[in-house]
Amino acid sequence: MTAQAAKVAIVTGASRGIGAVIARQLAEDGYAVAINYASSAEEASRLVVELRQAGHQAIAVKADVASAADVRWLFDETEKQLGRVDVLINNAGILKVLPLAQHSDELYEQTFAVNTRGTFNTLREAATRLNDGGCIVNFSSSTVGLNLPGYAVYIASKAAVESLTQVFAKELRGRNIRVNAVAPGPVASELFLQGKSEEQIRNFAKMPPLERLGQPQDIASVVAFLASPAAAWVNGQILRANGGLV
Ligand code: NDP
Repeated sequence: MTAQAAKVAIVTGASRGIGAVIARQLAEDGYAVAINYASSAEEASRLVVELRQAGHQAIAVKADVASAADVRWLFDETEKQLGRVDVLINNAGILKVLPLAQHSDELYEQTFAVNTRGTFNTLREAATRLNDGGCIVNFSSSTVGLNLPGYAVYIASKAAVESLTQVFAKELRGRNIRVNAVAPGPVASELFLQGKSEEQIRNFAKMPPLERLGQPQDIASVVAFLASPAAAWVNGQILRANGGLV
């Protein structure tokens, strides 16, 4: 009897933070996982070794999601090494908290390049390269509902991701591909913790009625649910996972 080939998942920005935990979760759920990263090569290859030692199929692929050519290469390498893609998790993202008036042209461009164009690039590629019956999970943020000062450009880049999600779900009619987004509240990862004082972190942790920060696993569990047959009827939705914050 030949073993059935594993379903294949790409997780963008999976070298660290929430993405790395999503990659672990999907590997445990039986997916062969492509761990995408932009600069953290060591972290990405450590995760590949860890997953392979646990008996899973995993590869690391360097690609800047802001580059259409890199994203083509990400799909090329994944298809070559693991097979055609079933699941795309658009987790890669950046955040710089700064009032709008203090944003440089470069910072504005960078935020939209990674968060918005990065998602656009992978969605466009997925339109022709994802297997029918597959699914996509994009990453927004609960800040879209909070409208916090200092987050204007980041929120705008993520609000655009929510729109891409809702329209793309409709454009894929006939392919049985679901497109949803998760919108986390504050999660204890480098992206959130960097540059914040202990007091600021405590204040954020107190905001949701569940009175704690999210952990990467809280978000990975939601992503795994959205990718699973249990979410077969969930399509074109934005799922806020934030302990009741907003
Ligand atoms: P981290 O900063 O901890 O990790 C970000 C990951 O994205 C890294 O693996 C990084 O890889 C990768 N990455 C960054 N830029 C690129 C790029 N151009 N191309 C490919 N990969 C890239 O962030 P989190 O894990 O916290 O965030 C994950 C997602 O969750 C993001 O979309 C973020 O906006 C969203 N989110 C996070 C929240 C939080 O509180 N943490 C709250 C709401 C949403 P490398 O180091 O190799 O560049």
